[in-house]
Formats: sequence, C-alpha cells, structure tokens
Amino acid sequence: MSETPAEMAEPSFRSDVTVELVKHTAGDSDVLWAARVSTAGEQSLEELSKDPDRSKGLINFLMRDRHGSPFEHNSMTFFISAPIFVFREFMRHRAGWSYNEESGRYRRLEPVFYIPDAERKLVQEGRPGKYVFVEGTQAQQELTGRVMVDSYRQAYEAYVEMLDAGVAREVARSVLPVGMYSSMYATCNARSLMHFLGLRTQHEQAKVPSFPQREIEMVGEKMEQHWAKLMPLTYAAFNANGRIAP
Ligand SMILES: Cc1cc2nc3c(=O)[nH]c(=O)nc-3n(C[C@H](O)[C@H](O)[C@H](O)COP(=O)(O)OP(=O)(O)OC[C@H]3O[C@@H](n4cnc5c(N)ncnc54)[C@H](O)[C@@H]3O)c2cc1C
Repeated sequence: MSETPAEMAEPSFRSDVTVELVKHTAGDSDVLWAARVSTAGEQSLEELSKDPDRSKGLINFLMRDRHGSPFEHNSMTFFISAPIFVFREFMRHRAGWSYNEESGRYRRLEPVFYIPDAERKLVQEGRPGKYVFVEGTQAQQELTGRVMVDSYRQAYEAYVEMLDAGVAREVARSVLPVGMYSSMYATCNARSLMHFLGLRTQHEQAKVPSFPQREIEMVGEKMEQHWAKLMPLTYAAFNANGRIAP
C-alpha cells in the first residue's frame, strides 16, 4: 500500500548500539563436559562442577594449547541494533555464526540514523597499517553532525518519494545510506565469539593487537560483557592467554 508524504516518520539520530542477549545455553560446565569425554567418558554436569580448581585448570589448559572444539558446545543469541556498515563488517565472520537481519525488501525501513558522539575520535593520522585516531576539532564535529543530518534527511525523503510513487521497496532502498540502523539476530558459540573479539576489540591483554572500527568494537564490547557473566572461567582463560581464540 502506498503512503502519503504526510505519513513520513520524522528521522531520528542515535550514537549508540544495542546488544541484547535473547537466549543462551552457555556455561563453563559445557566446556568441561565436552573436554572430559576424552578421558572419562560420559559425566553429569553436577559431577563436573565438583572440583572448581581442576575445572579452572582444565579450561586454561584447553585455551593455552588451543584445543578449540570443547568451546563450541554452547550457544548465545544476540539481538543487535547498529548501523548497516557495522553489519557489513560483522557478516564477514563466517565460521560458527548464524545471522538473520531485518529485510529492506519486505518492510519499509525506519528512519533511524547514526551520528558519532563527542567521544568518537574523528580524525585518522598516519599511514595505512600504522595509524591512530585523534579528536576532531569543534568545527569538524559540528560539520560532521550537520552534514550527516542533511544527507540522511535528503536520502530518506527520496526513499519515501519513490515508495509513494509505487516503486518497490527493494528498488527504492538503493538511495539509503550505510549509516542507517538495522537489526539482526546473531547466534554464535564461545569459540566463534572469541575469534570475533580477538579481531574486533582492542584490549590490554591482547597478544596480537587489532585495529577495529570503533562502532563494531562497541558491539563487541557489549557482547563480551554478556559472555563474561555466562562463562567466567572461559572468559578469564581467554584473557590470560592473550585473547587468541583456541
Ligand atoms: C581490522 C580489520 C580490518 C579489515 N579490513 C578489511 C578490508 O579492508 N577488506 C576486507 O575485505 N575485509 C577486511 N576485514 C575482514 C577480514 O578480512 C575477515 O574477513 C574478518 O575479520 C573475518 O575473519 P575470519 O575470516 O578469520 O573469520 P571467519 O570467517 O569467522 O573464519 C574463522 C576462521 O575459520 C577459518 N576459515 C573460514 N573460512 C575459511 C576459508 N574459506 N578457507 C580457509 N579457512 C577458513 C580461518 O581460520 C578463519 O580465521 C578486516 C577485518 C579486521 C578485523
């Protein structure tokens, strides 16, 4: 059904990302259970949790020596809301991830757009492979906010104009920018999450530094907070072993 311009929702602008843990079956005991089948056969989860020091030691050994498969017997599903350019980077992570994203073909996209806040460093200094980001000037910050708002408004008006004229959503969406928000479910296990975090976050305990774009790092940091609570021994071992996925 076509909509009149009067019905066009007013664009809104955000600087944050959100990550909700919508379901999970993930605990340190899942790692122990999977690992101990090697030497002890089938064991109950209660039995596995009896000796915390032994559990901690086993998880640390698995992490250190990169015995990765015991970290796959668990599942976490996140609902993520972030700009499209974040999802474009996110979906490069193929192994151990499942995705479902909202459709621009089957629904009219809401006008929610990303504007970096004052904390987001705006200026890149240095050469490719060796660079840092530094604060922008007040003038650069004002320019960025103003130009983004103008451009987003113009793009969304063009989108709605085409929808009003009967053009299909899948065609009209071509004019929408990558700073527009989207949402998706992303399901992973602890091993695939660790690989993601090793590449998409910066951390003082990382043996191999990475240089992720800040906005995907914001998503990674929120997923990490959820995961740390679910699997504290695995999380501690990940950090202690340089944040390299086993
Ligand atoms: C800082 C940064 C900058 C980046 N810049 C760019 C860029 O400029 N352009 C660009 O295109 N991408 C870029 N990427 C994306 C990057 O190249 C990877 O696609 C992304 O980080 C996912 O990593 P992955 O392939 O290891 O993860 P996954 O796809 O989850 O794979 C996990 C692991 O499984 C194995 N694996 C998966 N698939 C295969 C396969 N087909 N063959 C062999 N082994 C496989 C590998 O060991 C891999 O490490 C960048 C990533 C980062 C972190």
